[in-house]
Amino acid sequence: MILGIDIGGTKIAYGLADSSGELRGRGRRATECSGDPETDLARIASGARAVLAEAGIPASELVRVGVAVPGPLDAERRRVIDPPNLPGWETVPVAERLAREFGCPVSLENDANAGALAEHRFGAGQGVSDLVYLSMSTGVGGGLILGGRLHRGRSGNAGELGHTPVEWPGDICSCGLTGCLEAYIGGAALARRMREHAPQDSRVMGLAGARERLSAVHLVEAARAGDAWALAEMDRFNGYLSQAIVHLAFALAPEVIVLGTIAAAAGEALCFAPVRARVAESTWPHQAPGMKILPAALGDELAEYAGVCVGLEAEEAGA
Ligand SMILES: [Zn+2]
Repeated sequence: MILGIDIGGTKIAYGLADSSGELRGRGRRATECSGDPETDLARIASGARAVLAEAGIPASELVRVGVAVPGPLDAERRRVIDPPNLPGWETVPVAERLAREFGCPVSLENDANAGALAEHRFGAGQGVSDLVYLSMSTGVGGGLILGGRLHRGRSGNAGELGHTPVEWPGDICSCGLTGCLEAYIGGAALARRMREHAPQDSRVMGLAGARERLSAVHLVEAARAGDAWALAEMDRFNGYLSQAIVHLAFALAPEVIVLGTIAAAAGEALCFAPVRARVAESTWPHQAPGMKILPAALGDELAEYAGVCVGLEAEEAGA
């Protein structure tokens, strides 16, 4: 059995799967960082034990634990280093701590790479050889599957597409650089821009009720209702997203590009159709013929599969 743990900024998701990846148990709890990583890891482990108990599976049956975490990770992928969404976590030896807890090997992967593995194995990219996954929620994470394998690059940080510049110079990004894709289409950046620029009488303001509550959810909803300001903002979003996809088409010529949260929520008419058209206009016909741009298929279940897929990948690689 493989235990998958996805440690997110707001929730922890558990998946318990057999070697084929079929889920035999699952669970969720709020992240609630205490400020002390040891306390947090004990709580994360106790949540995992509850999932095992509910499934009637003893911890001795675990062959591996796979963990998806917000990066960055150390080069050996054993420790998490200063994840922005987990307050109080500096350098945290997650793999060692959980290996002691469960008595089996523990593999760590950043959440976007884990998402790429999950969408490749069980989601929108099943059976393809080359896939790019863009996570697109608060931030913009990326994961690359090339030749059927996760591509980590020499540093382990390959695929960080959210931090490639789309304007230069440009807006300040949460990472400290400027002009990053994330600073234009990440959920946090969109919310900030909406708070600063949404007209008082716009539909997004009506939906949110208060300026400080504005988020990408309101933008998508208002655009769907035909609001002119929201549609113009979606057009801007699609423009930056298309730029990034054109870079990917020229650099990697992947078979499939899978887009997560915000794009998936916006859907075909507001996002995918216009993005496909712009990408087609800006790439050579023979550059990435047949390249599909698809919404993530696992939706809200991605978190349960992400950790499991990290474990499965490590087992297959004999890590
Ligand atoms: Zn950045």
